[in-house]
Amino acid sequence: MLDRYVFAFLLLLSSSLTIIHASPGDADPRYRDCIRQCQETGCVGPKCFPHCTFSSDGELVGRPWYMQEPLYLQWKKWGCQSDCRYHCMLDREKENKLLNLGPVKYHGKWPFKRIYGIQEPASVAFSVLNLAMHFHGWVSFFILVYYKLPLKDEKKAYYEYASLWHIYAFLSLNSWFWSAVFHSRDVDLTEKLDYSSVVVLLGYSLILAILRSFNVRDEATRVMVSAPLIAFVITHVMYINFYKLDYGWNMTVCVVIAVAQLTIWAVWAGVSRHPSCWKLWLVVIAGGLAMLLEIYDFPPYEGLFDAHAIWHAITIPLTYIWWSFIRDDAKFRTAKFLKKDK
Ligand SMILES: [Zn+2]
Repeated sequence: MLDRYVFAFLLLLSSSLTIIHASPGDADPRYRDCIRQCQETGCVGPKCFPHCTFSSDGELVGRPWYMQEPLYLQWKKWGCQSDCRYHCMLDREKENKLLNLGPVKYHGKWPFKRIYGIQEPASVAFSVLNLAMHFHGWVSFFILVYYKLPLKDEKKAYYEYASLWHIYAFLSLNSWFWSAVFHSRDVDLTEKLDYSSVVVLLGYSLILAILRSFNVRDEATRVMVSAPLIAFVITHVMYINFYKLDYGWNMTVCVVIAVAQLTIWAVWAGVSRHPSCWKLWLVVIAGGLAMLLEIYDFPPYEGLFDAHAIWHAITIPLTYIWWSFIRDDAKFRTAKFLKKDK
């Protein structure tokens, strides 16, 4: 008897969770009807989509699994689903506008205007600019450390954190690349790649913040400090990829890591008397304020610029200042080292 109550309770809980999980836009029965019809007929009103013709290809019965589910068929399914969702959403939004209702979210996202098939053009453009800014920052750092500053006898840099910043540059470029891909086309795979790259970058940045602010130069201590954080990041990435992409939990993890990192830099900027600590302050304060945009979401202006896109825009100048701080740090540490040498 008790079992049945527990079962009923769990059923109720799981169904209420799925309702909470859906956005107001895609919970609307008129939108759902539109999607169902579109996937059956391949059309929304007068508009028809070539991607939605896979059902007429036949089921390919009796063939091995890889023939039944070839990549192009999967690709067509993604294309059809995305076209149906987009045009049903446009229809619903048009109706909402006539009723003087504001935009609502669909599948966790605001209604964006597509440009050349790109789902969120503003976020893509800003992601590419962030990528370019990191590349510029990294190249100028590389030139400074290996060509402008004096080197040790074995052609090694005096700056003890050079290799750590190279890894940081690589992870940043990787993360902005997947961000641009994900905002161009949101499917399960691109979403997971983007989310995973962000978590890896954040986790690594926290390790870097700890190592630099506590001036950890000994290899063994570096490994000891980073091991638990690396273990946590790997576990979290496996969890969101192979178990469940829990948006709320993932957001909590990202915010906690980001806040911890900003706090460490802020405290260090306050106590270290670093010659470029104002750059640190600027990045920490502006970065912290920009993070609020991720939490206080608003709908896109002109169907293009939502809170997330603006957050990606703000990080472009911050990236420039950040790499300028990193170059200053390299100069500062090298000068200190040479003074000691004399
Ligand atoms: Zn993004």
